[in-house]
Amino acid sequence: MIPFLDLRSPYDELKGEIDEAISRVLNSGWYIGGTELESFEAEYANYCEAKYAVGVANGLDALHLALLALGVGPGDEVIVPSNTYIATWLAVSQCGAMPVPVEPDERTYNIDPARIEAAITPKTKVILPVHLYGQPVDLDPILAIAKKNGLYVLEDGAQVHGAKYKGQRIGSHSDAVAWSFYPGKNLGALGDGGAVTTNNDKLAKKIAVLRNYGSSQKYVNDVRGFNSRLDSLQAAILRVKLRYLDQWNDRRKNIAHRYLNEINDSELILPSVPEWSDPVWHLFVVRHKDRDIFQNKLSKSGVSTLIHYPIPPHLQKAYLDKKFQQGSLPIAEYMAKTIISLPIGPHLDLKDASRVVEEVNKVNAE
Ligand SMILES: *Cc1c(COP(=O)(O)O)cnc(C)c1O
Repeated sequence: MIPFLDLRSPYDELKGEIDEAISRVLNSGWYIGGTELESFEAEYANYCEAKYAVGVANGLDALHLALLALGVGPGDEVIVPSNTYIATWLAVSQCGAMPVPVEPDERTYNIDPARIEAAITPKTKVILPVHLYGQPVDLDPILAIAKKNGLYVLEDGAQVHGAKYKGQRIGSHSDAVAWSFYPGKNLGALGDGGAVTTNNDKLAKKIAVLRNYGSSQKYVNDVRGFNSRLDSLQAAILRVKLRYLDQWNDRRKNIAHRYLNEINDSELILPSVPEWSDPVWHLFVVRHKDRDIFQNKLSKSGVSTLIHYPIPPHLQKAYLDKKFQQGSLPIAEYMAKTIISLPIGPHLDLKDASRVVEEVNKVNAE
């Protein structure tokens, strides 16, 4: 069976450097914050072409704390994609605010900028686009809408480490970008981790205070904060892995280009890449009208696939109520029924990638 994603090989490839980093932290006697965290924050900010990176405990907290720092609270509305991982919505709910979903552009799977203005109300405070599957959102029209309507923009960058929009690395186009370093992401820790990047010094300071009990000075608490820190061990591991991010993203691109060039199943809709986008292929998502049959056939021929995501947030029990029902967001619902993710990753064997192409093309020929 060709694995969907190999989480062990990244450690094997970098074992020497990762073990060295871990032992450095263990021997330092300093396990929260300190130089490893500060160095990672500086290196990640630099990589993202942003002024600041603030490490936090995970991607959900990165979104939550960034929204709080932007002043989002009860009674506010935040515009989110209808098709995203549920964390995007949960972060809004955690602030006591309302997620207001906007449907995606079917070609890019990302929030459709043309549909955003219709969702703006006097309560709207933030537009929260997600760079889904490693493909940058069309940011310029979103930034223009935000400016025109006096709104903030927070990007969910959990799936897009290293991607570029119009030649500039994702990380500082808008007010802030929230990142996750969950092990399966393009830049993954060996545990949980997250960060917010921004060019705004006030915002960076607010988030740094919120992550640490609302305190900027030991035992002085200015606001009711949280404990959401990125620990030194994960920061040290991330410093190693950051040095390989471009190289590993190139391996993903190589596989993606092979899929795009060699898959000739006419029943499949392949991902499209707009001219302003340099994606990093966190996932390679195709669409098939008989998705379940297609997935079954691939499984029988030894190709693992997954669905990202089988149930859109508004149809989850967590959100299903009078406002959201079956049929209320038809594009997201149709996507969820027809999408399927093929194996991709920096440690997917190229022979296995060729076999994926072969098996996918065979399914159609039957
Ligand atoms: C992974 C992910 C998150 C949440 O990150 P965690 O580190 O798991 O909390 C948020 N948004 C999107 C789009 C994600 O893929």
